[in-house]
Amino acid sequence: MIIVMKAEVTEEQIQHVVNTIHNAGLKENVSRGEERTIIGAIGDERVLDASSIEAMSGVEKVMAILAPYKLASRELQPENTIIKINGSNVKVGGNQIIIMAGPCAVENEEQIIQIAQGVKAAGADILRGGAFKPRTGPYNFNGLELEGLKMLAQAHEATGLPVITEVLSPDDVGLVAEYADILQIGARNMQNFALLKAVGQQKKPVMLKRGMASTIEEFLLAAEHILSHGNHNVILCERGIRTFETYTRNTVDINAVPALKDLTHLPVIVDPSHGTGMRKLVSRVAMGAIAAGADGVMLEVHTDPEKSWVDGAQTLSIQEFAKLMPNLQRVAEAVGRSVNNKSPEVFDILNYTLNNKSSYFNG
Ligand code: PEP
Ligand code: MN
Repeated sequence: MIIVMKAEVTEEQIQHVVNTIHNAGLKENVSRGEERTIIGAIGDERVLDASSIEAMSGVEKVMAILAPYKLASRELQPENTIIKINGSNVKVGGNQIIIMAGPCAVENEEQIIQIAQGVKAAGADILRGGAFKPRTGPYNFNGLELEGLKMLAQAHEATGLPVITEVLSPDDVGLVAEYADILQIGARNMQNFALLKAVGQQKKPVMLKRGMASTIEEFLLAAEHILSHGNHNVILCERGIRTFETYTRNTVDINAVPALKDLTHLPVIVDPSHGTGMRKLVSRVAMGAIAAGADGVMLEVHTDPEKSWVDGAQTLSIQEFAKLMPNLQRVAEAVGRSVNNKSPEVFDILNYTLNNKSSYFNG
C-alpha cells in the first residue's frame, strides 16, 4: 500500500501512520521528497483498512497494490482451479467447455426427466433446474422445494447427469446439498453473507451468480467469502447486469469473462438465458461467451418452452439446444477448447428424431 501524505504534513502525523503500519505487523518505507512524503506499507496490506488510513490527519491519498480478495486471486494461485463433480467425469474449469442445461424450474417428474434425457442426448454435461425459486413477486410460483429436489434426483438416476440447483436460505443448505452436485447461489443472493458462509462451510461445489448491480470486484469479494470459510470449489457465473438498455432483460457483461479469467483462477460460466431474456439471442450470445474464454454456459431448455412455468421467453427448445451444440463445439475448437464429444452422426440422429417429433422427447 502506498500512502501519500499532504504537503503540509507534520512529523507527528507521519509517525502516527508509521505506528499504525507497525501495529498491523507490516514494515514501512518512508520516502521524504522535496514536496511530498510517501509511505510504503510492506507486507500483506490487506490487514490494513485503507479507508481508515485515508481518514488519518496528514494523509492525502491511499493506493492499494494488492487486490482486496486473496484466496480468489491469480496472484495467489496462478493455475486454474479445476473442480471435479462428484460421481461423474465432469470437470469444471479444465480444457473442456461445460454445458449446463435444463428448465428454469422443476415442474413435475415427467417434465424434468424428459428434459434431462433430451439435453443429455444433445451433449449437456450437467442438468439445471430450480426447486427453490427466487421470484420478484411474492405470488409467483416459487418452486416445488423438497418435491422438486426429489424429482431432480430421479432425473439424475435416469440420465446420470450431475445436478445443479439453487439454494435460497442458509437453513436449506444441508437439505439441498443432499440432492445437488453443485449448489447455486442466485444473483439476488450474491451478497447474502449468511448464505455465503453456510455454503462455504460445506463441501459441495458452489456456483455463485453475479449480482445484477455488482462490480467485478464485489463479485470476487463475494466468492472470497465462500473460499474464506473453507470451500475452495467455487464457480463464477456472469448472468447479465442491469444497464440503461431495456431491449434485453439484462446486459451480458462479456468484458467480465476475460477480466475474471485474468483476475482469478476460479472457473467462469456464462448464463445467456437470464443475460438476454430473449430466446432468439441466447444461442449467439452463448457462442460469444465461449469465444471470450468462458469455461462453460448455463442454458434454460424445455421440451415445450411456451408452456414453461417460468422464464419461457428465454428458454430454448430441445431442438434449438441440439442445433446449438455443434456450433458451440466449433467455437470451442477455434479457441483451443472442446465440448462433450458427440459425433456428427449423433447430431443427425438427434435432429432426425426431434424433427420427426419422436415419442422419445414428447412423452
Ligand atoms: C436461475 O438461474 O434460476 C436464476 C434465478 O438466475 P439469476 O439468479 O441469475 O437471476
Ligand atoms: Mn430462470
